[in-house]
Amino acid sequence: MPSRVAVIGAGAAGLVAARELRREGHAPVVFERATGVGGTWLYDPAASSDPLSAGGSYSSLYASLRTNLPREIMGFLDFPFVAVEGTDSDQRRFPGHEEVLRYLQEFARRFDLLGMVRLGTEVVRVHRDASAASWRVAYSSSKLAGVGSEEVEVGEEEAFDAVVVCNGHFSEPRLAHIAGIDSWPGKQLHSYNYRVPDPFHGQVVVIIGYHPSGIDISRELAGVAKEVHVAIRSAPCEMQTTPTTDRSNLWLHSMIERAEEDGSIVFQDGSRIKADAIVHCTGYKYNFPFIGDDIGTYVEDNCVRPLYKHVFPPQLAPHISFIGLPFASILFPLFQLQSTWVARVLSGRIELPSQDNMMHDVAAFYADMEARGCPKRSTHDLRCTFEYEDWLVEQCGMEKIEEWRKLIYIMERTTAPDRHESYRDEWEDNHLLAQAQRDFTKYL
Ligand code: FAD
Repeated sequence: MPSRVAVIGAGAAGLVAARELRREGHAPVVFERATGVGGTWLYDPAASSDPLSAGGSYSSLYASLRTNLPREIMGFLDFPFVAVEGTDSDQRRFPGHEEVLRYLQEFARRFDLLGMVRLGTEVVRVHRDASAASWRVAYSSSKLAGVGSEEVEVGEEEAFDAVVVCNGHFSEPRLAHIAGIDSWPGKQLHSYNYRVPDPFHGQVVVIIGYHPSGIDISRELAGVAKEVHVAIRSAPCEMQTTPTTDRSNLWLHSMIERAEEDGSIVFQDGSRIKADAIVHCTGYKYNFPFIGDDIGTYVEDNCVRPLYKHVFPPQLAPHISFIGLPFASILFPLFQLQSTWVARVLSGRIELPSQDNMMHDVAAFYADMEARGCPKRSTHDLRCTFEYEDWLVEQCGMEKIEEWRKLIYIMERTTAPDRHESYRDEWEDNHLLAQAQRDFTKYL
């Protein structure tokens, strides 16, 4: 049966959710607090006024950011992310962030999604209507109170048959705990608020974390700072400070032991430096401030639980669902597969297991993680395997994910760590790229 569905967020996940829901005959309404669609990819040159939190800024991109995946595997399955020749768009295989935004805006235009999106509208509360089997979505938006008057915040509430949460998970910064930091005199910043390297000119900077943002930012800073020291959590305690081979002022360390009042930072390997700034490239926490206790879904050590296949809380399925929680190999395709699944479950075309069986599946999944010694915070980390995507494909009865997509991903992930400086501009998988381009002709 068609449903009126509230979609929270108009990033890549919310846009594709809206498309798939409408394709299945539903009536989605997309709530987006920002003034445009694109989510993370809507670059905001103004960072938050609090350098350690997101504040009122909705994007964590830095000016120089280029994608860390090649465009042909990053795009949605049937809407290739190809360079538009003969235009001034970014033609590179790993384009800058503006090109991703252009692609998402084009996706929204091509599938006529913009009319479903309510911009400048923030969902503040989602709750179940006790009397009827419906959901109440409370939101606030800025409106003109009358001709010539100033904008005012207006709060409203509407009923929906279902809610699809697509609010992203890169806006609640996680900070490293550092002993002695309160009396350390330097400045601190989370990568969420890093935009350009200029403010760090001539300084000694400590970066915490060496995942994609930490790698990019440390290398960019090494171009202007006096010294850059990277603390790596996964490094063994006994790791000695190591200079990188390609940058004479960039050093790798084990984690920070403590910060001291005189500006020193002491690492676990015993080395010590005087630093001017710390940049936390330490990732993010899941956060659903609009979901109250009545929903029964909660976040524990960065695990959103209980969720059947990372999407449905069994006790409320299929009326509330979460798209985009996993850290997967290829995100946009994953959002699309999850959205198709949710849309077809809502229409009754796909049947979910009983609530008890979903609960058993969830319990077995958590037990298996525990037996393998995986921490809770890795619950949604599905990188480097395509098992989950293949399972979704099977549920939806869709065509298999192309082999070239998987092979390009695996090749990138295995070679990029040794080629931080060059992997975006040099590659050896032209034969796979040619297969991708051949496949794309059916969609262009
Ligand atoms: P978002 O893009 O965060 O969108 C969520 C939307 O929900 C936002 O527009 C937000 O304003 C809105 N929202 C939140 N709360 C509310 C509310 N209460 N009411 C209304 N609206 C709300 N992925 C790749 O595939 N390739 C890359 O190269 C890549 N690089 C990345 C680099 C950085 C620095 C970061 C942070 C992420 C990167 N990613 C990359 C991952 C990226 O986040 C995903 O690709 C994807 O864009 C996430 O989409 P989303 O829709 O889940 O979330």
